Amino acid sequence: MTFEQLHLISPLLEALNKVGYTIPTPIQQQSIPHLLQGKDIFGCAQTGTGKTAAFALPILQLMSTAPNYTKGIKALILAPTRELALQISENFGEYGEKLKLKHTVIFGGVTQYSQVQTLHKGVDILIATPGRLLDLMQQGYISLKDIQYFVLDEADRMLDMGFIHDIKKVIAKLPIKRQTIFFSATVSPEINKLAQTLLVNPVSVNVTPISSAAELVTQSIYYVKKENKRALLTHVLKTQHIEHALVFTRTKHGADKIVKELNKVGIKSEAIHGNKSQNARERALSGFKNRTLRVLVATDIASRGIDVDKLSHVINFEIPEVAETYVHRIGRTGRAGSEGIAMSFVAHEEMDYMKNISKLINKKLDVVESHPFLGNS
Ligand code: AMP
Repeated sequence: MTFEQLHLISPLLEALNKVGYTIPTPIQQQSIPHLLQGKDIFGCAQTGTGKTAAFALPILQLMSTAPNYTKGIKALILAPTRELALQISENFGEYGEKLKLKHTVIFGGVTQYSQVQTLHKGVDILIATPGRLLDLMQQGYISLKDIQYFVLDEADRMLDMGFIHDIKKVIAKLPIKRQTIFFSATVSPEINKLAQTLLVNPVSVNVTPISSAAELVTQSIYYVKKENKRALLTHVLKTQHIEHALVFTRTKHGADKIVKELNKVGIKSEAIHGNKSQNARERALSGFKNRTLRVLVATDIASRGIDVDKLSHVINFEIPEVAETYVHRIGRTGRAGSEGIAMSFVAHEEMDYMKNISKLINKKLDVVESHPFLGNS
């Protein structure tokens, strides 16, 4: 599935191209079509799944294709923390770069002056934390009467942080006729109750909770400069007892380069990716399955459908941007109760991705320090 197939308009496709997204994540695939049809959504998804784009893209599209442009704030996104609000705002900026819509973010802990100034100039999309929003509403700087799209993000965290009364006060000011998007990582009776008061005939979308799959896998991190990654891979394959490894790369070209280098030093490997013929892919896969091939190098897309019993090692040669992808990758090892090992080669520019992954799996990963290429900056 591509973003084109989700019927996104070309300014959005261009922006996505620029930020380097090629394939919609599962939550995006499931949410975008319903949202474009005007439906309410009850989404169960964690950070790292691509949930922000799942609501931001359709909101941008619906707003920019609406027949009559009117002034006033038409979309409100409520987020529990300043960090999340800023991140969402940044995403709106990136995805909406080619559109004329204006967005801004407001949160507490800083003076309100510049926020009020920006609001005065006119804003179409407002991203806010509850406290500052209410504050500015009470002072008369913000009216919610024109809101058509309302997003409550990380609802469970909002409740944990004690925002329920603030949220209720905000909701009371929203027009009845609107589209509502509700996201929560967990679903409790309290969350269900809140969702019921907000949503009308919602479509439920769910991305599989990050399961215990990741718990069966021994995971470690190797800090290494980008240019030393291939040497580290060779080193690891030569010095450790690795029977069978699936190596993930981001690009087809990168996969080919690795294979070339490994074969040069006598480590039998092949790549599977979109530029390979069906025949070549099948040959590589069956060689990997019957153990004549020790290393298979794959891109995420090509790796779908690889089902290998008792795969001992997954090596993340490059760290995926979407944290969920990491979990899918390592879920390929340690199957059927057998323990697997996942190694991640982390360059300096991938540190943020790794942080998101740690957050998603709620685990701090061990760092391997005993290798000759230690240090990534
Ligand atoms: P989120 O769950 O919304 O916080 O997104 C997690 C990360 O994934 C962010 O860094 C996004 O920029 C990135 N991301 C979201 N959707 C995609 C996609 N379809 N392809 C690649 N990266 C994405």
